Amino acid sequence: MPFIQPPPELGNQYTADRALRSYLARVLHADMLAEIEPGLIAMGELAGGELYRFQLADRKNEPVLTQWDAWGNRVDRVEVSPLWREAERIAAEQGLVATAYERRHGLYSRVHQFALAYLFTPSTDLYSCPLAMTDGAARALIAAGNQALIERAVPHLTSRDPREFWTSGQWMTEASGGSDVGLTETVARQENGRWRLYGRKWFTSASTSQMALTLARPDGNPAGGKGLALFYLETRDAQGRPNHILVNRLKDKLGTRKVPTAELILDGTPAELVAGTGDGVKNIAPMLNVTRTWNSVAACAFARRGLALARDFSGKRVAFGAPLAEKPLHADTLAGLEAEFLGGLHLTFFVVELMGREEAGKASAEQKSLLRLLTPVAKLLTGRQVVHILSEVIESFGGAGYVEDTGLPLLLRDAQVLPIWEGTTNVLSLETLRALEAVGGLAVLKREIGILLREVREPDMVKISAQVERAVEQAEAWLAKASGDALEAGARRFAMTLGRAVELALLAQHGQWSLEEEKDRRALAAARRFAAHGVSLLAEMDAADSRRLAREDQ
Ligand SMILES: Cc1cc2nc3c(=O)[nH]c(=O)nc-3n(C[C@H](O)[C@H](O)[C@H](O)COP(=O)(O)OP(=O)(O)OC[C@H]3O[C@@H](n4cnc5c(N)ncnc54)[C@H](O)[C@@H]3O)c2cc1C
Repeated sequence: MPFIQPPPELGNQYTADRALRSYLARVLHADMLAEIEPGLIAMGELAGGELYRFQLADRKNEPVLTQWDAWGNRVDRVEVSPLWREAERIAAEQGLVATAYERRHGLYSRVHQFALAYLFTPSTDLYSCPLAMTDGAARALIAAGNQALIERAVPHLTSRDPREFWTSGQWMTEASGGSDVGLTETVARQENGRWRLYGRKWFTSASTSQMALTLARPDGNPAGGKGLALFYLETRDAQGRPNHILVNRLKDKLGTRKVPTAELILDGTPAELVAGTGDGVKNIAPMLNVTRTWNSVAACAFARRGLALARDFSGKRVAFGAPLAEKPLHADTLAGLEAEFLGGLHLTFFVVELMGREEAGKASAEQKSLLRLLTPVAKLLTGRQVVHILSEVIESFGGAGYVEDTGLPLLLRDAQVLPIWEGTTNVLSLETLRALEAVGGLAVLKREIGILLREVREPDMVKISAQVERAVEQAEAWLAKASGDALEAGARRFAMTLGRAVELALLAQHGQWSLEEEKDRRALAAARRFAAHGVSLLAEMDAADSRRLAREDQ
């Protein structure tokens, strides 16, 4: 018999996840945890079992666009893969959006919702994408206070009944600009007393959604972001026909191939203003804050999935006389990745806690400022961390990691979208500078880090606290000195330094708690390892050198 390598396997993705369970045990009241745990265990079982097997079997299925019916009618119907149809049903029934709006657990409802989403996402090939936009649309409609639209759409967006459940698109990006949406070319005209939209949307991932929130420029409005308005539209008319929307084609993408990302023509699509005829970018911001947080959660979830598979494999694959797990260098490699993942996990769920607090009306002014500042920071940092982690995870399987029917390459390809959509790393780094200005500088972050590190007593953790504080002071000194082009050029290093400082502070805080309450040294080990990777990325860079290196003609 030739040698056959046993493949990596997953167990229950909740019970096997010591980090998530330990985190939940720290932040949730025991009664609440006991109440929600059966649901988490069930989701973990599904994600590591039936749904994971379904995902592997569904690997080659992709969305299909049918533009014409047999008789020459333009129908523009997009059908998603069987896995996605099942994912939609599960998402509705398990309340992946609804949980946040039912608020059974007050300010901890978001923690509950995102713990479910974190377990669900990696087994559904990013079905979290339409869910993020659905959640974001509900949030934006509620924030805008448009009662008619709230009554019309929110009960569908937050329904647990798959027959009633709607998803929403977020149609912003146009060929002229995804980051710079002020360049939007779609126009809105009033015709016979109702608004109609004309334009081309270049990336629309939730192309099978029942509704969308989108940006368009009402006729006569000025150029730029200020002249855009936020519109609500339904994608099908009462007869179920496309609502003056043409689907030009589905994008042929590196990854996220289950996501039906389409190019659309809006050809007089009836739409309604969400909140006045201007300030569309401001009015869609609540949606973006939600989708960015879903992105951070997806990044952690993908990292965790890759590491769970890599760990299992390392116990099964034998090289040079021992399982890889026993090879010091392989163990060292996985340990470094795990520490980075754990930093991302704690930062992400810290943002989730702040979001839940704000929505429950329980956030102080300082907590609101922290939420504003850390939402883009968590998104940009975890988006980069997950791509690094999964690239290493693929390598940790050797050649098998590069072979499609192991299901592994998909992880890396799908994760690569996480730094791109919902604001690229650079765009969010600049957004971090704007957020900092809005919250009055770094004082609020410094105070919070002080609070996080207050209980830290372990000698190593005390040293780590000093390292965190030094990094933030360095960031503050850099900020005070930098201006103009230098400020912009260093924005990514700055934002990542802040993010890494908060990640390490959270790891140290959790490590101390876990040692005392759970007699577990794992979280402390993660903090030590993360600290060894370094916190501050700040460095003086020569602008002329950057120009020389970025362009060949200089
Ligand atoms: C799979 C997929 C699905 C998507 N789904 C949707 C969707 O459903 N709805 C939607 O609206 N959009 C969607 N998008 C679009 C996505 O949000 C945009 O691609 C993204 O925001 C970047 O915009 P862009 O492609 O126009 O790139 P550009 O804005 O042209 O950016 C190109 C590069 O320039 C950098 N850059 C831009 N401005 C600056 C600056 N001032 N300083 C420094 N660097 C800068 C960016 O970081 C980026 O690296 C999707 C994209 C993908 C890949």
